[in-house]
Amino acid sequence: MEFPSRLIAGYQAFRRSRLPVEQDRYRELAETGQQPEIMVIGCCDSRVSPEVIFDARPGELFVVRNVANLVPPYSPTGLTHGVSAALEFAVQALKVQHIVVLGHARCGGIQAFISQDAPLSAGDFIGRWMSLIEPAAKMLKQRTDLSPADYLTQLEQASIVTMLDNLMTFPFVRSRVEDRRLRLHAAYFGVARGSLLIRDPQTGAFMPLGTSAEGANQVKAAPTR
Ligand SMILES: [Zn+2]
Repeated sequence: MEFPSRLIAGYQAFRRSRLPVEQDRYRELAETGQQPEIMVIGCCDSRVSPEVIFDARPGELFVVRNVANLVPPYSPTGLTHGVSAALEFAVQALKVQHIVVLGHARCGGIQAFISQDAPLSAGDFIGRWMSLIEPAAKMLKQRTDLSPADYLTQLEQASIVTMLDNLMTFPFVRSRVEDRRLRLHAAYFGVARGSLLIRDPQTGAFMPLGTSAEGANQVKAAPTR
């Protein structure tokens, strides 16, 4: 058997512990179909699983993950658009009420864009894909006062905001946002601390989400990385 032994062990643990608790929910979802209210656009990074961070049950989150949690602008021509197809399905068919772009600290994709390290040349897949953050990088160009670590954090967060702008270029997103059937959110996960920052749409600042039972208290905390 060449199937990874880690996955076999993990599946067996799922059968033993989680499935018995959620069997009814799986059956119901199989019969009625999924009706998630929230779409999350996250990074492929193995440390940043939205289902784990948000303690999600089956059927709750519609997740699309790609390198550096990017969204290309609306472009109905061209070839294959994985993110756009997922977005269209989530908004038009599932009618999600929220889209969360979830960025994170120490993002390898954004670091690759900054450092242009081999083997990731501009002509490679990641190089082309990461060109989507050029507008955010241009916006930060003037910030020569930042350390490399702070610049990475700033670019990670600025890129999330740019992705909200890109989401708004999709006519079906814009119309629903304008009549308040859909809300867009920017969030940022600090890998080392397990902290979560949410962007305040009024101020544009990323604010720590409290850890109270209500989960909505915003408190001052140390910088997130
Ligand atoms: Zn990443």
